Formats: sequence, structure tokens, C-alpha cells
Amino acid sequence: MRYMGLNEVREKYLSFFEGKEHLRMQSFSLVPNNDKSLLLINAGMAPLKTYFTGQETPPSKRLTTCQKCIRTADIDNVGLTARHGTFFEMLGNFSFGDYFKKEAILWGWEFVTEVMDIPADKLYASVYLDDDEAYDIWAKNVGIPAERISRLGKEDNFWEHGLGPCGPCSEIHFDRGEKYGCGKATCAVGCDCDRYIELWNLVFTQFNKEEDGSYTPLDFPNIDTGMGLERMAGVMQNVDTIFDIDTICSVRDRVCQLANKTYKADPKDDVSIRIITDHIRSVVFMMSDGVMPSNEGRGYVLRRLLRRAARHGKLLGIDGAFLPKLVDVVVEASQDAYQELAEKKEFVSTMIAVEENRFRETIDQGLQILQEHIERINSQGADRILSGTIAFQLYDTFGFPPELLKEILKEENITFSDEEFQQEMKKQRERARAAREKTTFTGAEETVYHKLDVGLQTAYAGYDIDEVNDAKVLAIIRNNEADEASDDLSIFLDKTPFYAEAGGQKGDRGIISTDTGTFSVYDTIKVIGGRIAHVGKMERGSIEVDSPASACIDRQYRMDIQRNHSATHLLQKALRDALGSHVEQKGSEVSADRLRFDFTHYTQVNPEELKNIESVVNEKILEAIPINICEKSLDEARKMGAVALFGEKYGETVRLVDMSGYSIELCGGTHLGNTMEIGSFKLLSESGIAAGVRRIEAITGRAAVAHYRDREDKLRQIADLLKTSENSIMQRILNLQSESKNIRMELEKLKTKIGGNAVEEILADREDIGGFDVYVGRLRDLDANALRNLNDRIRDKLKEKQSAVIILRNLLADKVSFLIYASDSAVASGIHAGNLVKAAAKTCGGGGGGKAGMAQAGGKDPDKAEEAIEAVKKMIQEISDQG
Ligand code: ATP
Ligand code: MG
Repeated sequence: MRYMGLNEVREKYLSFFEGKEHLRMQSFSLVPNNDKSLLLINAGMAPLKTYFTGQETPPSKRLTTCQKCIRTADIDNVGLTARHGTFFEMLGNFSFGDYFKKEAILWGWEFVTEVMDIPADKLYASVYLDDDEAYDIWAKNVGIPAERISRLGKEDNFWEHGLGPCGPCSEIHFDRGEKYGCGKATCAVGCDCDRYIELWNLVFTQFNKEEDGSYTPLDFPNIDTGMGLERMAGVMQNVDTIFDIDTICSVRDRVCQLANKTYKADPKDDVSIRIITDHIRSVVFMMSDGVMPSNEGRGYVLRRLLRRAARHGKLLGIDGAFLPKLVDVVVEASQDAYQELAEKKEFVSTMIAVEENRFRETIDQGLQILQEHIERINSQGADRILSGTIAFQLYDTFGFPPELLKEILKEENITFSDEEFQQEMKKQRERARAAREKTTFTGAEETVYHKLDVGLQTAYAGYDIDEVNDAKVLAIIRNNEADEASDDLSIFLDKTPFYAEAGGQKGDRGIISTDTGTFSVYDTIKVIGGRIAHVGKMERGSIEVDSPASACIDRQYRMDIQRNHSATHLLQKALRDALGSHVEQKGSEVSADRLRFDFTHYTQVNPEELKNIESVVNEKILEAIPINICEKSLDEARKMGAVALFGEKYGETVRLVDMSGYSIELCGGTHLGNTMEIGSFKLLSESGIAAGVRRIEAITGRAAVAHYRDREDKLRQIADLLKTSENSIMQRILNLQSESKNIRMELEKLKTKIGGNAVEEILADREDIGGFDVYVGRLRDLDANALRNLNDRIRDKLKEKQSAVIILRNLLADKVSFLIYASDSAVASGIHAGNLVKAAAKTCGGGGGGKAGMAQAGGKDPDKAEEAIEAVKKMIQEISDQG
């Protein structure tokens, strides 16, 4: 047995099975293709499921692959065992009703003992309890001694997943020697420790699990095998764990370097180092396959892995974001086998940086709060439980992942109530659902369609024609079952030119008519079983099932949709050219009045870039590019460079929308014949809708013209308002601005001048009341500040020791305010400005008061202002009389 690099093991395996007439296929994306039962591909057979069930025909009866896999179910093992990663590569050979157990076992044995050259005495086999057939092959054909074949139960050696194909397995284990064992007397093949490590699992898919729980034999049994590439490389390189093999140790070392740690110095650190090493690999591979961080589904798996890695970085004492710095080593180690890594590298590291930074910001806040709770629990010393409600708040407000919370609490020996947490989660979901409660009839998921005849089908004819004159009415369904009288119906025909909403393109509108009635279609949708429902209202008469009908779409409406659809293809191409090939469609909506396109990009598209993109699309419109639709095999399409969607299942042949080579997309929608028909393209907005996902909205054709016209009208109105011509608007605005600046300055000057005059006038008009110098100022429209300023300036002009009272009356639109000032010496003689102003305000129907030296107050009745001044004067006289 000689040292072998991971890449060499992979190649040896695939070519070995090619030698056994297997067709070698590329790894499928980590994102399952049209398989709702699975978030991420977790085994070599997962993307081949339809071949196993017979729904699809495989390109060959024998296949071999090296498949990227993600297993978050193993997340708790990662870092602790020698053999688990959340990301790993699985080698496999598959037979679809072709060879079976004997070949699978013999070839497996041949590969490990001859190609890998592993000594036979280090290998063990296991079979399912009663699978004597497999046992005999191992014992007789291969000839391994009985003590090295074990019979294991369902948990280890029977593969099944819900209903459907299933069967017993047989595994090949490698004995790494006593030093890796747990030391227990029971330690043997199947033990959880790292001594007998499972290398290869051969699954004999020979049964079908039925609804009643029984197993019926399959006519054509299948073979599905899975061998962990990292594990095999670990054996060939004679290293302790998969983290020490050639391709992974470079990542591990980089983690150590960033953390300034030595591997194998501290067991606790080592766990964190291995966790980061593994998780960053998962993150890079997932993002390269188009997964973006989010709060649900696979996006959440990604977010969780990334955040967990970030947190272990914190545990290692790494300050600040470090994950992007690991991308290079991950890519370098695996890019030869996985091109997409190099292609997406820049994008992936930018996205990781964005996500890690965001996490650090929110998590720090959350950690602080969590720390307070931990301290509280520690000091209480009672139940070591954190309430699920608090856990949920942390999650909801700070994005604190519950798994992370659990981990941190575990270190403190605290638990939290998962049940309570889930309840809160459920409540929130209900709130969200209530918020988007349906108000209109949306069709697709409506149960009214479940009663349609099983055989009912509609042929779609609308790719080529707008009108069908020889259709037949197959069924009519009331949209609202409860309302017998309603003429809100769904009509089903045997053929139709109406496009039903799909792939983001909105459904058609139009008219269906028979001899007896006319029906106006306001939407066309696909309902259960892919049938086309024409949703609308009776306009005239009635329509009967079985009657001949003609169906005609609203041509204008469809053309508007098509303009937006073809423009969307141009836009996508222009975006990719301008921003990079990481731009991928994340969603699209094409309606008659606008188009919406969501795509992956890490940052805002700046106005300059947007302008360019808009220009490119308009250039392509002017180039009058013919749009051709053709059918091709998926392979041919890929070779032509067609842009396909992630997670979209395509059949044997695919429909290509080819804009003469400029843009080639797989698409089932309807399009124009030539880009010229788009007329014009106008971007309306660009915004972010989720982490790494941007949205562009745009209009075309008539909507663009209407948009420009609207702008033009507005411009004209502005010109009219400014009493100038459109061309002079700018100059006119500049003039107005400088004019208004001048006026403002003039006004300031005037105000100061008036204020200045007022001071002199008021001072000149002195009245002696019982020995007090009383000054009265009658003013208008001053704000409180100006009034105070004025008072200050009069006060400053008073002589020292002068016994003075200043009464300022200020008339405003519908009220009056007073400011009364009493000099120190006046105050000493018994004057109290607060009391005076209170009396004045009261006279005018208001209230208020203040200090003895100065006070302000107001009333609602300006007509009484003079009366109020007289009242104040009278009070001053009284005080003088008393004193
Ligand atoms: P184990 O019991 O060791 O977790 P398994 O029974 O889950 O393995 P299978 O589902 O049979 O493994 O997968 C087939 C092969 O894939 C395994 O024999 C192993 O070599 C490899 N493998 C499985 N899980 C992992 C993992 N988390 N990391 C690396 N390799 C794995
Ligand atoms: Mg497992």
C-alpha cells in the first residue's frame, strides 16, 4: 500500500469503474434538482433518484460518480470523530436493473485490495442480518474468514427512506488498529469509535416498501454504493483523521495560522480548528452552487454553518472577520475537480465577508444579553433552564441561531425549553400568515380543482398562434363553490392559445366564446395536474360543457408581457457581462406592465453601472436580433452555453430561447420574434431584497413610452409654473435660488433694523408708575427667541440699579404672548415678573407664569391685550402703594 493523494484516489476509482463499463458523470450540484424532499444532496444516489424509481431513464445502466455531499445530520460529530465532515465527496457505482450483489461485492473487493492495495487482513465486511446471499458471496467468492464478516441490524445495514425502493446493505470496514479504539470489550465493526472505520457501503436495492409496510421484491434490483473519498484518502495516507489528508490539511493549517495556534497543542482548540476547517469547505461549496444565506431551507443551513464557524473563530480568539481569508485555500485544494469553485471565488468570499460581518454585529449584542441571563441563572442557583421565550427573542431580534445558543448554554450546563421555543416560532409564523391572508382568488392551490376528471388535459397551442377556433369546453368550475349564483368561473378546454402563468411569466387574458355565450378571461393559471384553467367571468349568455368554442388571447396584453420577457433575457445577459458570471437568476416576474428580475450580487449596483446596463440592453434592441426558439438535448444546450436555472428540473429535451447567440436561455415562456419589438427599455429601480440578492425593476415598449411622456408632462408643468420654457428651467431655478437667497439676506437685515428701532422706541417711551420705570413694547409676529433677544437688548441699555419693568406684548395670528422683565432692584422692591405675566395672560384667556426676574406667557384672545397691559400697570401701582 503506497501513499496516494485524494485527487488520485478519485481518479483511480472513476477510471476503475469506467473499465467495468460504467458511464462517468460529473458531480451534480449540491442543490437538488426538483426534489422537494431534500434540502441538499447528501449521497451519491440522491441526484439519481428518478433513475432508481424508474420515472426517468438513465443515460446508461451503469454509472459512476464522485458526488459533492452535505450532511448536517453529522454536524455534532464533526471535529470530534476522525471521519465525519458536513462536507465530503462520495464515490459511487450504480446499476439500474443491470448487475447486482455479486459484481458489486467482487468489484468493491478488487478495488480496495488491488487498486488501493489495502492488505486484506485489515478489512472487514458486514451484511444485513438475514442476507445470506451477500454473506455467501463474501465467504465463498471473496473468501474472507467468517470471523471478519459480521451480521448487523436494520439500523446499520438496511437502507430505506420512507416508501419506495429499499434494501439491505453490505459495508467494507478498515481496521485502523488498537490505538484508535475505544478500548471497550465490545469494540468491533459497527462500534461508534474510530477504530473500525466504515469506508464503503454497498446498497442492494431489491425491495419496494409498500404503504402497508410490506416489502415486495423489485423486478429489476439496483445497486447503489457509496464510498467516502476523504476516508479512503485518510487510509491511503495513513493519517489520524480526514482533517490531516493532503487536500484538507492546507485549510486546517491556514485556520491555525489565522488563529495563531499550533495544531495538537490543546484538544479543545483542535475541535474548533477542525470545525472551522470543515464548515468553511461546506460554505464555499454551497455558495459556489448558488446557495445564499437566508432564514429558511438550505439558505439557513448555510447560514448556520457559517455562523458556527465564525463563533469557533471567536472561541480561538480570532478578532474580526476571518472566514473570507480561508476561501483561497479551499478553492485551491479542490478547483481541479470542481471548476465552479474558481469561477465563483470572488463572489463567494465577498458574500462570506458580508455575512460574517453582519453576524458579528448582531451576535455581539445578543451575546451580551445572553451573558446577563447566564449570570442571573448562575446566581439563582435553581433550575438551570433558560426560557424558550427568551431564546426566541434572541433568535428573532439578534438572529441568534438556536443551535448556537444550545451550544453556548451547554458549556454553562444550562438548557432551554425547545418546546417553548417552537411554540413562539409557531405563533410568529401564524402572525406572518395572518398578515398575508389571501384577499383574492389565486387559483393554483385552490381545492375547487380537485374534482376535475383525472383524464382532463389541455394542449397548449399558444407558442405559435393567438387564436383557436376548434376547441371544446371540457369542464366548468365555479371559483367560489359556496356562491351558486356567481359567474366567476374557471373554464377548461381541450386546447388553448392561453399561456398559463409559469416561470415568472403572467397568464394570458382574452375571450372564450361559444354559440351561446362569451366569457372574459382575466387570468390563466396552471392548477393541479398541470391543467390550464381560464379564470374569468361570464360576459354574456352562458357556456355549456362539451360545446365547441373559440379562444382568443388579448394580443396587446400578451405582446406587452413578451416585451418584458425578452427584455428580461437581455437584461440577464447584460448584467452578467457587466458584473460577472456570479450573477444568477433568483426569481423573475414578467407581467404586462413591468418586469422584475432578482439576481445574486453582493453589493448595490451603482448608478454608473446601471446606466451602462440600460444602454447595453437598448443597443441590443436596436440591433434587431432575431429570437429563435428550438428544442435541444440538455447536454447540447449546455455546450451552447445556455443559462439554466438552479433547482429547476429539465426534461430530456429542453426549450432554448436563442437570441442569435448573444443570449441563450432555457425557458418555457413566450417571446417576441425579434428584440426590436421590445421598442425601448427603461430601468426603474435597483434594490436589495435579501443577503446577496438584488432586484431590478424595469419597463419596456408602451410602458416605457408612457413613462417618458409622463416625465415630459411633468417637465412642461414645471416650466409653466416657473413661467419659462423647458430649456430655460435650469437657469430659471438657479435665478430663483439666488433671488431667494438675496431676499433672505435683506429680510435678516430688516429684522435687525426693526429690532434696533424697537429698542430705541421702547426705551424712549418710559412711564413712571409709582416710582418704577415701566417700558411697554407692542410688537408683532416675533418668535419666542426674537422676543427674548429684544428684551435682552433693552435690558442692556438700562442703567445700573434702575428700578425698571419691561412689558413686551407680541401679537400673533390668533394669539398673543407676553414677556415681562423686572430689574434686580425692582424685584427687591416687591415686583414679581411671573405674577405680572400670569395676570396678563389670564386677562387674555390663557395662563402661565415664571420667575420673579423674567417670565413669558400667552393667551388666546389678542383683543384683550391692551386690557392686560393696563392690568399689569395697575398691579405695579398697587405694589408701589403697599411698599
Ligand atoms: P457513519 O456510520 O460512519 O456515519 P454512514 O453509515 O452514515 O457512515 P453512508 O450513509 O453509508 O455512511 O455513506 C456512505 C459512505 O460515505 C460511508 O461509507 C463513508 O465512507 C462516507 N461518509 C458518510 N458520512 C460521512 C461524513 N459525514 N463524512 C465523511 N464521509 C462520510
Ligand atoms: Mg452516518
